[in-house]
Amino acid sequence: MLTYDVAIIGGGLAGLTAASFLAREGQKVIVLEKSKRLGGRAMTNDKNGVLLNLGPHGLYLSGDAANILTELGIFLPGGNATKDVHIHGILNGSVHVIPTDFSSIMSSTLLSWKAKFMLSKLIVKIMKLNVSSIPEVSLKEWGDAEIPDPMVRHIFYSICRLTSYTNAPTLQLAKPVLKQVKRSLHAGVLYVDGGWGTIVQKLKTQAEARGAEVVTNKNVTTIEHHDEYQIIQCSDGTTIHVPNCIIAAPPKEAMNMLNGAEHTSLRLWNEQAIPVTACCLDIGIKKLPNPQHQFAIGIDQALFFTNQSRAAKLSEDGISVVSIAKYHNPMEELNVNADKKQLESVMDLLHPGWRKEVVVQQFLPKLTVSYDFPHVKRKRNPGPSIPEMKGIFIAGDWAGHEEVLADAAVASGKRAALEILHVNEMVLAKEG
Ligand SMILES: Cc1cc2nc3c(=O)[nH]c(=O)nc-3n(C[C@H](O)[C@H](O)[C@H](O)COP(=O)(O)OP(=O)(O)OC[C@H]3O[C@@H](n4cnc5c(N)ncnc54)[C@H](O)[C@@H]3O)c2cc1C
Repeated sequence: MLTYDVAIIGGGLAGLTAASFLAREGQKVIVLEKSKRLGGRAMTNDKNGVLLNLGPHGLYLSGDAANILTELGIFLPGGNATKDVHIHGILNGSVHVIPTDFSSIMSSTLLSWKAKFMLSKLIVKIMKLNVSSIPEVSLKEWGDAEIPDPMVRHIFYSICRLTSYTNAPTLQLAKPVLKQVKRSLHAGVLYVDGGWGTIVQKLKTQAEARGAEVVTNKNVTTIEHHDEYQIIQCSDGTTIHVPNCIIAAPPKEAMNMLNGAEHTSLRLWNEQAIPVTACCLDIGIKKLPNPQHQFAIGIDQALFFTNQSRAAKLSEDGISVVSIAKYHNPMEELNVNADKKQLESVMDLLHPGWRKEVVVQQFLPKLTVSYDFPHVKRKRNPGPSIPEMKGIFIAGDWAGHEEVLADAAVASGKRAALEILHVNEMVLAKEG
């Protein structure tokens, strides 16, 4: 039997962030990850020296995750994905420049002059927006009320899909999405050298340097809750006793492993969660047939193409890594074969002849991008503690409050760690 102050279940961004904060304060921490590799959805696959994230991954500079990583002393190499790039829009099977700066406003054929003026005004408005003043309305309600021109509205929703990775404007709350759009307009997005595996590696190294133990191949099957301690059991027979435990695994897994979870708030959080999925094709390519097309979003299709290598180093020998993703609508049926054909046909449109340049590729038909997001059906924000079970906490991208995606994962990991430290302080103060 092993003894620690805190056991963290799940070695993704949320779990590793929590570990780093706790270890920094001298807590004896163990991270238990069921897979043989750390990182969860932030892992990067090395295919013959070409580094492929699981779908296109960009870190919002000035977002919660970037700020918290900086606070932890973690600095990431890479480049700004949105700098000096024309955003193209795909509409009715053709490619257009989306007017976002002076030169593209002059050249774009996508909008009338009146609509170009309206889009420019909208961009300025979002950049100046006081986000806290946005009412609790859906993204669609906000967009429909604020943007009279239908084509400008379509472009706006495409940009919102891009920044939130979510294709559900009637469900998404406007405020967190607009916050994300504002951030991307102000500071941009970082593509990380070496892929998101670099973030995972740096978090692990730092947590271990502070004394945390990080173990893989540890599948937690049961958590038995007691008031003063928790008993954690793994499928290989390991048993761990801890006063505090953070579940940084997805909500369904959390429900399954925690005995008695159906009588706690975790049940509500699991029931209210609406997972967001996407279909992705990541390609290592010798050269891009049409170098003008570096970044494109679907206006009449929920799609996104990007050349991640334009800003990040993802191979040693000049192979570029590009990704194309389709955002699934959580309310629609999936058709994996049709999705793959759709992604390939958009590649044909943007980069005719791309197939003969391919070195490696990975097709991911249905990845969970986020296990929940701030939406109109959410009754209560999840975590950081499970109030009915002293000593049990949660973290993960489904435990975001106003954050989304990796920002939610990292911010909720920090929240859970700080809550444990706060409770410990209160106990110490009480004891005199
Ligand atoms: C295609 C795609 C594109 C994305 N793009 C972006 C982007 O551009 N920007 C952005 O901010 N975010 C993006 N994201 C989201 C981001 O990757 C995730 O929000 C983040 O990685 C989630 O971290 P997490 O720690 O919450 O969960 P996870 O990464 O899922 O980690 C949970 C961990 O728990 C482990 N686990 C589960 N059950 C057990 C158990 N019983 N015992 C032990 N361990 C267990 C799992 O193996 C896993 O490693 C994207 C995601 C995808 C899929």
